[in-house]
Amino acid sequence: MLQIVFATANKNKITEIQKLIPPTIKVNGLHDINCVEEIPETQPAIEGNASQKAFYIYNNYKVNCFADDTGLEIEALNGRPGVLSARYAGESKNADENMNKILSEMNGITNRKARFKTVISLVLNGKETQFEGIINGTILTEKQGSMGFGYDPIFAPDLNSHSFSQGEGQKLRSFAEMDLSEKNKVSHRALAVNKLVEYLNSIT
Ligand code: IMP
Repeated sequence: MLQIVFATANKNKITEIQKLIPPTIKVNGLHDINCVEEIPETQPAIEGNASQKAFYIYNNYKVNCFADDTGLEIEALNGRPGVLSARYAGESKNADENMNKILSEMNGITNRKARFKTVISLVLNGKETQFEGIINGTILTEKQGSMGFGYDPIFAPDLNSHSFSQGEGQKLRSFAEMDLSEKNKVSHRALAVNKLVEYLNSIT
């Protein structure tokens, strides 16, 4: 069985990913390798951050691993918060404060197009491969729903581009109004993880 470490301390993400990875691949968390320190992510783009995190674990703990980095990119804000998504409203990385900042910056703006982008960097025996997942959507004018995490309450994925019809004239639904199985059908991270799993299956 392939053993691989997922370099994240975010339990929500581990739960999301476990549901997508086949049982033939065992995903371990950072606690399994006794890694408790904060992993540096100081690069100017999400590709670089994913890479930096994965190589940090590979080089310091000598285990095969993958790391992800995600950014919410809003067209009217020239792609912000992007790589700054986690700490957009400050170092406390507070999801509510981050959403409030976006909602006030977007006040009165009619172009609400946005996308979530996830990049996964896999480092196997020192060799890196990256996988990308993107979901387009809309920034809502207020928070909706209580499931999920992060920016989920203000992001409504464009379901039509995934052939899951939104329904004519229906109110837009945020990620936070979808349970995990529904979110996982379309989410940026699920799309990137599916590519990762396909790749791992092809080489194992
Ligand atoms: P990270 O790179 O995964 O740490 O994510 C950067 C920022 O995007 C953090 O503020 C996360 O809360 C947020 N984020 C990541 N994935 C999601 C998601 O699936 N839904 C909503 N917010 C997310």
